[in-house]
Amino acid sequence: RNPEKELLYDAYELSAKLYHFLLKNTQHGQDAVSYLRSRGFNDKIIEQFGIGFAPDRWDTMVQFLGKREFDLKEMEKGGLLSARQERDGYVDKFRNRIMFPIHDRNGRVIAFAGRILGEGQPKYLNSPESLLFNKSRTLYNLHQAKASIRKLRQIVLCEGYGDVIATWEAGYQNVVATMGTSLTEQQIAIMKSMAEEVIVSYDGDKAGLQAAMKVLPMLEGAGLRVRIALMGDGMDPDEYYRKYGLERYHHVMNSAVSSTKFKLIYLKKNHILLEEHGKIAYTKEALPIIAELSSSTEREVYLRELSTELHLSYESLKQDCNLLRQSMQ
Ligand code: ATP
Ligand code: MN
Ligand code: MN
Ligand code: MN
Repeated sequence: RNPEKELLYDAYELSAKLYHFLLKNTQHGQDAVSYLRSRGFNDKIIEQFGIGFAPDRWDTMVQFLGKREFDLKEMEKGGLLSARQERDGYVDKFRNRIMFPIHDRNGRVIAFAGRILGEGQPKYLNSPESLLFNKSRTLYNLHQAKASIRKLRQIVLCEGYGDVIATWEAGYQNVVATMGTSLTEQQIAIMKSMAEEVIVSYDGDKAGLQAAMKVLPMLEGAGLRVRIALMGDGMDPDEYYRKYGLERYHHVMNSAVSSTKFKLIYLKKNHILLEEHGKIAYTKEALPIIAELSSSTEREVYLRELSTELHLSYESLKQDCNLLRQSMQ
């Protein structure tokens, strides 16, 4: 046991409790509660995810940790405080923010994400990496999701905190998130050790679709089955759930598409299929995706869909696809 580390665990746990208490029991906390309510987060969710509030003061944590005889320099190294700019001493790192505790897979608090109330920059302020927090090995909510993940052998993977919370509320307890950074090999290894299938449920905006395209080969390369849940209208899972409700959310999750289908949908967005050159250009990009499938049944499924969609004969698509396959060998 590393005493320095144990102290930091204690500090994070106490801090999470304090932030949570301040959210629920102070006047200023009420603004934060109102903000959370306006986003649809109820009391049960606030408890379940241990959400808190860091007041708009520079010394809440300095006082709190100081009184409990934590070494403030260690707390600064650990990411709970910041060094003062002009002179000696420390100030709180998080001020006037909604606090989402980030846990390790055993449920110990190792970091925070602090969200501004409403608009402003930076939207999220995260704890720095520390003795406890290695960003590339952490998946948000894994501690609460792991039992369900193991049972279902399936993971729902989101981008953000709100997405995890909405997805959880919709009844998917096997949900985790990457917290804004790109998915790492370590995170994939963790997922692979617990599940066979990943439902990628990223934001429906351009950045989210692009990120999904990027993680597909990584997840499949690790031997995981992948499907993609498509949120419409550029929305993220949280927005989609709040706007359309449970039933439509379930529908989106149940209709998560295969990675081949997703790639085809993604490519199609760049082409105007009513024009001949658009049709041909799309076909040229789509065929290699289909040609690389090893199962001829699967190839037939997608070729027939393409044929219907583009009003082209299945035979000519199949012929071009087979030519491509020969050149690929
Ligand atoms: P919200 O719903 O609270 O507005 P979001 O999760 O939809 O937030 P996105 O802009 O979609 O936010 O970003 C996805 C994730 O990326 C966030 O949940 C957060 O983990 C991370 N992130 C976004 N902006 C920042 C930032 N400025 N600094 C650090 N991380 C960020
Ligand atoms: Mn986004
Ligand atoms: Mn988002
Ligand atoms: Mn969001």
